[in-house]
Amino acid sequence: MAVHYVCTGGCGGSVTQEEYNDGKTTCGDEDCEKYGQPFERKD
Ligand SMILES: [Zn+2]
Repeated sequence: MAVHYVCTGGCGGSVTQEEYNDGKTTCGDEDCEKYGQPFERKD
């Protein structure tokens, strides 16, 4: 599986490496307890 980045909160959000490089580095779900917190890398 390719490298991607995931939110560790309840939203279950994730982005690809490309999206992350584009600046999408934090959770964008306002209802998530991790909103605004950085995604965690998963290999
Ligand atoms: Zn989240």
